[in-house]
Amino acid sequence: MPSAISPQLRVAVIGTGPGGLSSAIALSELPNIDLRVYEKAGELKNLGAGISVNHNGWKVLELLGIRDRVNGASTNPTVQRNAYTGEIVDPGVPHDPSDAYEALRVKRLVLQEALAEKVPEGLIEFNKKLVGLKDLGKDGVKVLFEDGTETIVDLVVGADGIRSVGWRCLVPAKRLKHIRDLPLTTTSWWYGKAKSLWLSPVDADLSNLTDIEFTARVFNEPPVPGRTVSWGVRVSNDEVFSRFSDCDPRLAQVFAQVPEGNWTEFAAYAGPSMDSLVAWDKLVLVGDSSHPSAAGGFGSGSAFAMEDSWTLARAIEYARSIKGSDASPSVVAEALRVFDAIRKPYYKAMSDFRKSQKEVLKEVGRKEYVDFDSDLRERFAKDGLGAKRGKGFLGFVYGNDIGKVCKEFFETEQARRNGN
Ligand SMILES: Cc1cc2nc3c(=O)[nH]c(=O)nc-3n(C[C@H](O)[C@H](O)[C@H](O)COP(=O)(O)OP(=O)(O)OC[C@H]3O[C@@H](n4cnc5c(N)ncnc54)[C@H](O)[C@@H]3O)c2cc1C
Repeated sequence: MPSAISPQLRVAVIGTGPGGLSSAIALSELPNIDLRVYEKAGELKNLGAGISVNHNGWKVLELLGIRDRVNGASTNPTVQRNAYTGEIVDPGVPHDPSDAYEALRVKRLVLQEALAEKVPEGLIEFNKKLVGLKDLGKDGVKVLFEDGTETIVDLVVGADGIRSVGWRCLVPAKRLKHIRDLPLTTTSWWYGKAKSLWLSPVDADLSNLTDIEFTARVFNEPPVPGRTVSWGVRVSNDEVFSRFSDCDPRLAQVFAQVPEGNWTEFAAYAGPSMDSLVAWDKLVLVGDSSHPSAAGGFGSGSAFAMEDSWTLARAIEYARSIKGSDASPSVVAEALRVFDAIRKPYYKAMSDFRKSQKEVLKEVGRKEYVDFDSDLRERFAKDGLGAKRGKGFLGFVYGNDIGKVCKEFFETEQARRNGN
């Protein structure tokens, strides 16, 4: 058992995205911890439009104790369409109200607020940009901020994110109601050649729609000289529409209804996949910072970040239980070993999948289509993207139950320690 007189474990969390906030929640529930959260911005951000919460997301929100604070619109059925003709190529699976873990599309702000409200008051310091870290060996790690201040901690949790790709906006629902045959109460995905569009409700009450989420994505866009990575940068309607002007006229009407200034761009940022999510036996990466990729996070990046955070808290708990201390360097080292052992194989599987997808997307971009519609239908018949979401196709992502994964891992570890 950890001793009551053990020094506190000093932890600095960097960032207040889903990764930083969920780390703050999960870690603050551990006893004997001196926790601070640092954010470079002056306040919590409200970027993006809608966000999917899939089975894996609900599971971790349950563990974090905020499941009931998050609600939105079911993404079943997600109707897959040909973006040029609007023809349905896959009707998706029907909405199942009895499925407590069904995927919902929620306003990003709803998730962000649910997380922020659960973080104990006074933990977050704003206008604190991390600019450096110094390994102090057994004394911990020095954290340096842009404002010239510094602090020494036993563990740094890097939740400072990275970038993703796409354009996003919310369109007031009342501006779209007049468009004939435009599905507003169901999620629809419109596929073009190396590009796609997504329309989805984000309200739990479909009879009282406030906003509709509209997102656009282009694969294989040529690099623009001088263009730097952007995250949440405002772009004009024309800039986004210029890539989709050949699509179904209903989509053109939706573009015309986007209030100028609503589009935000999230340009691609990619990095190599990591060999390890930990360093120096006292640094750990959670959320986007741990799995940089331009190919997106399968609409689950926030869930991954929250899964990381929850796993880290369990890893610390486990390390404390076997080391008999709350804050020694060996506790931190053991916790990070365990964290890496649980999360690295998961991210490796995702990285392998992304690599295979990259080739598929390249091929889609290069392809000369004789009959795009038949080709698209064939793709859906083969992959069953809509129908199998959460089961076969990418089931290891959407079906993940992090509570179960950790429980099984620790049981195996314990058995190994007991020599079984
Ligand atoms: C267009 C788009 C659509 C998406 N759709 C979905 C979806 O449907 N479902 C889903 O689950 N996920 C989705 N995601 C992914 C999701 O947004 C990310 O995975 C998630 O935001 C990652 O959280 P994070 O906390 O790791 O990083 P971030 O959200 O990037 O947060 C990082 C935080 O760290 C701060 N920070 C950065 N550097 C420093 C520094 N040096 N010092 C101090 N603070 C710093 C930043 O200001 C920021 O607050 C989408 C992303 C995009 C771009």
